[in-house]
Amino acid sequence: MASRGGCTHTRPVSKRDYYEVLGVPRGASPDQLKKAFRTLARELHPDRNPDDPAAEAQFKEAAEAYQVLSDPTQRERYDRFGHAAFDQSGGPGPGDFSGFGEIFEGLIGEMFGGRRKKRRGQDVEVEVEVSFEAAALGAEETLKVTKPVPCATCEGTGAKPGTAVRTCNQCDGKGEVRFQKRLFATSRTCPACEGSGKKIETPCKSCRGAGHVQGEEEMAIRIPPGVEDGATRTVRGAGSPGPGGTGDLLVTIRVKPHPLFERDGADVLCTVPVSFPQAVLGDTLDVPTLEGQVRMKLPPATQSGKVFRLRGKGIPVYGGMGKGDQLVTVLVEVPEKVNRKQRKLIADLAEEMGTETHPQRQSFLTKLKDLLE
Ligand SMILES: [Zn+2]
Ligand SMILES: [Zn+2]
Repeated sequence: MASRGGCTHTRPVSKRDYYEVLGVPRGASPDQLKKAFRTLARELHPDRNPDDPAAEAQFKEAAEAYQVLSDPTQRERYDRFGHAAFDQSGGPGPGDFSGFGEIFEGLIGEMFGGRRKKRRGQDVEVEVEVSFEAAALGAEETLKVTKPVPCATCEGTGAKPGTAVRTCNQCDGKGEVRFQKRLFATSRTCPACEGSGKKIETPCKSCRGAGHVQGEEEMAIRIPPGVEDGATRTVRGAGSPGPGGTGDLLVTIRVKPHPLFERDGADVLCTVPVSFPQAVLGDTLDVPTLEGQVRMKLPPATQSGKVFRLRGKGIPVYGGMGKGDQLVTVLVEVPEKVNRKQRKLIADLAEEMGTETHPQRQSFLTKLKDLLE
């Protein structure tokens, strides 16, 4: 028997230092320990190394080292007394492997998916169509969501009214059962109650014992300013109920096209057709914006395709600061049909104007002439 603080080892000399087993320095942080163990466990896991006694022995060794070093009290004792610390107290040894703590099982489960949680309810996906303005400026929309809602007949218990709901005797109401898989104990969803932990004697007729029926629920959802077409918002806990919690509601936002506006990031694009006389003489235009009509000065001699910028009349930058602009493209419209009188006037006008009133055309003709000579 080892004396406290002594260096007498009752275990075989071959027992390796725990830090050495995990390949970490003595001062390793809990995170470093966890990471080192994960890496080793992944390599050595019995599922990956079937019937390999060497890997199994190493896995046991690593698990034991991690079990001790991940527990601050045990680690302190180990740091002071080495392996001797556990000789008297019946601590973990290679032979007694069944006594793993919650931490270890949790870690193993987390790593290998061996430990199944009670099933969470499903996420419910819906689409909501909003106007261009609502997406740009933000809004609150009400939507109808078809999803499982608590059954009114049994008030969600799943049992026929007046009959009992017992605790599932297979899992004692825990919803999961434990089983031994090679080296460690793990858990899975109870097959008898499918994780609910309850046993219903006479199922409710309306919901066939499920506790919920398909129903419609009205929900208000906030549309954030600047949101783009196809964006998704998650409403936590508004999905389908399940034994392990309620799923989420995933709302995809669809933005309806606008008759006059298009979007380019935070900018609003808009094309305003003007007549030839307006373009020549200038005018004041009524231009629609997200916040209503504004007056925009069209200077004389505005060319078709000219873009005017209305600062700050765009869309708030999504999730950021500031606003975009509105870009107004002027389109000089050529009349498609003219009557006889108009045709005559335009012909007279053409004669009157010549090419000197059209510098771009004149420049083009000069260059063309040079090219041909
Ligand atoms: Zn019911
Ligand atoms: Zn059960």
